Amino acid sequence: MDAKQSLTFLEDAQQRLAELPFETVSAILAQAQGAERVYLVFVDIIRGFCDEGVLASERVREMVKPVRSLADAFLAQGLPASNLLFLQDDHPADAVEFAAFPPHCVRGSGEEETVEELRSLVEMEGAQLFRKNATNGLFGVNTAGEPFHAFLRRVLTEPVTFVVVGDCTDLCIYQNAMGIRLLANQDNVQARVIVSRSHVRTYDLPVAAAKQIGALPHDGDLLDVVFLSHMRQNGIDVVAGIQS
Ligand SMILES: [Zn+2]
Repeated sequence: MDAKQSLTFLEDAQQRLAELPFETVSAILAQAQGAERVYLVFVDIIRGFCDEGVLASERVREMVKPVRSLADAFLAQGLPASNLLFLQDDHPADAVEFAAFPPHCVRGSGEEETVEELRSLVEMEGAQLFRKNATNGLFGVNTAGEPFHAFLRRVLTEPVTFVVVGDCTDLCIYQNAMGIRLLANQDNVQARVIVSRSHVRTYDLPVAAAKQIGALPHDGDLLDVVFLSHMRQNGIDVVAGIQS
């Protein structure tokens, strides 16, 4: 690898991200031609990534309050509660995923619960929770037994907008935003998928700290830049933030 060339790419990518415009809630609703055509997708904003357990991170937690404010702004401007979609890790104790990640968000541990700040939202009449046992939420299933991909195909019969918020930028945000984008592309339906930098986070595990605990390192800033840029390249509408 030519590290100098890669650094040039990174600096350019960082600059492009710094120049991204802000969106507003009202502009998103107007462009979608109705609040009923906008879905707010909360990815893994749960205790096991924000509050307790081996994968919890203060850096990830930073987006919780902004996400709550964003949800309140959407609801105040007419977003139906049924358009609040929660994709959340909820693993059995023997999850196959634990071969790649240390055990986390095991059902009944409390780590799989929605963070306190968002609990009143997930409990709203009509809000939908899809529990998943893999990073990609397309395979997650709601209480009625419907997988998320089937739900998406039901709503992707007309132009729809999805705002994807939560964690982690390079894992579940990337995979779920891309999953929605690719399903819409495949079915040839006009869909807008928005990822706001102010409302997504990933964790940081420096090389030295990772060596100490025998884990794989994870450079939060680098992976943010690479994955946000990569999402843009794939037709996801990455914005600096969303103002209410
Ligand atoms: Zn998991």
